[in-house]
Amino acid sequence: MTADEDAPIFDPAAFRLTVQEAELTTLARRLGQNKFAARAATFDREARFPTENYQDLRDAGLLGICVPREHGGFGADYRAYALTAAEIGRYCGATALTWNMHVCSCLWSGPLADGMDMSNAERAEHERRRAQHYARIIGAGAIYAQPFSEGGTAAAGAVPFATTARRDGDGWRLSGRKIFASLSGSADYYGILCTEAQGDAALSRRNTLYVAVPATAAGLTVTGDWDPLGMRGTVSRTLLLDNVYVGADEAIMPAGVYYQAAIRMPHMFMTLTPTYIGIAQAAYDFTVRYLRGEVPGQGGDKRRASPSKQHNVAEMQIRLEQTKSLWFQAVSEARIDPTREQVMRAYAAQFSAMENANELCQLAVRTCGGQSMLKSLPLERLYRDSRCGSLMLPWSADLCLERIGRDALYLPGESD
Ligand SMILES: Cc1cc2nc3c(=O)[nH]c(=O)nc-3n(C[C@H](O)[C@H](O)[C@H](O)COP(=O)(O)OP(=O)(O)OC[C@H]3O[C@@H](n4cnc5c(N)ncnc54)[C@H](O)[C@@H]3O)c2cc1C
Repeated sequence: MTADEDAPIFDPAAFRLTVQEAELTTLARRLGQNKFAARAATFDREARFPTENYQDLRDAGLLGICVPREHGGFGADYRAYALTAAEIGRYCGATALTWNMHVCSCLWSGPLADGMDMSNAERAEHERRRAQHYARIIGAGAIYAQPFSEGGTAAAGAVPFATTARRDGDGWRLSGRKIFASLSGSADYYGILCTEAQGDAALSRRNTLYVAVPATAAGLTVTGDWDPLGMRGTVSRTLLLDNVYVGADEAIMPAGVYYQAAIRMPHMFMTLTPTYIGIAQAAYDFTVRYLRGEVPGQGGDKRRASPSKQHNVAEMQIRLEQTKSLWFQAVSEARIDPTREQVMRAYAAQFSAMENANELCQLAVRTCGGQSMLKSLPLERLYRDSRCGSLMLPWSADLCLERIGRDALYLPGESD
């Protein structure tokens, strides 16, 4: 590490990271610090997708972070990915959040699917199909989006997705509407979560499909504007699917496996948190540098002598350490068929990452003072981006609270 290089969010020795985790987080941190940090304000101001960052991710091999090694990727597991994504989120939240949507297409079809029950025939077919997805990513540098939100309770996991897939020969015809489709207009493929319709029978969550729709598919349109509070570079517009044909080989996971995974591997929904761990760290880093007079363009004014500023920084440091520790534990114990306690801890980690990122940003603004919220500095962007975390389904902050409260008071099978 050079003298002007940022320290890792999770020190490899202190947190006993694997060699691969240490290497990937270093790679991401250097990319973020040297390239993404300077571009973040532009993507935010213009609400533009971070195409240049994606070229850097592609060049560094990071589009294939969770593509298995035998398919040409880094073969990173859940925790290695999460730690790496946190370093990216520290420098550009929109890049980290959209990268998450892309990486999930590999994480879910890769290590996650490997742990799920499937017949030998299903597994062999899945192996053949996923090789095609991985070849697109590794060979052609393709980017995958992951639109599942529809504006109703489906994204909260309560009812089947209203977007349907109806059998047509060997493939399906997809119809429906997805809101907040991050990477819209920039993705090469949209990994659509939808429900396979079985005749006139009521839609069932068991029949959830996860299918790759090429951006060029007839009947697929991106619509609506995009001028949000934060995470502006995600360009999360609306997707309309009007009788879009996709072949059977576009299934990213075999039928029924998404439903199984959602029940048996709930941590799969925690992958949006690394971005916000990165933002929390960035707010703290900025505050310390600003008060020490180390932020470029600030004339070297030191503002650290005030006891109340020192007190606030102490509060920020404590909250950051609490958040990081809980999150690291939850990410480290992600597994298939976790215990009830582990699931509750995952909800707590999700809630803490999302809410505390915003809490740290608002403390940072108060502590640094008026000039720190000028658009020429990153803090006001971090503040706006951080507010978006708690809204992300299916584990929004409110849903985490509901589930922890219920699970704490009712054992499985209990009711009043
Ligand atoms: C910057 C950004 C990027 C995003 N990117 C993506 C993306 O790439 N892909 C994607 O699929 N989604 C994405 N989302 C969407 C996100 O995950 C949520 O689905 C979205 O914010 C929900 O918005 P809503 O207005 O429908 O909210 P909400 O009202 O929160 O949720 C919608 C519905 O869910 C149910 N619900 C919510 N909370 C509860 C509760 N506590 N109890 C019971 N029911 C509840 C209700 O029926 C509610 O009407 C993104 C969101 C943001 C802000």
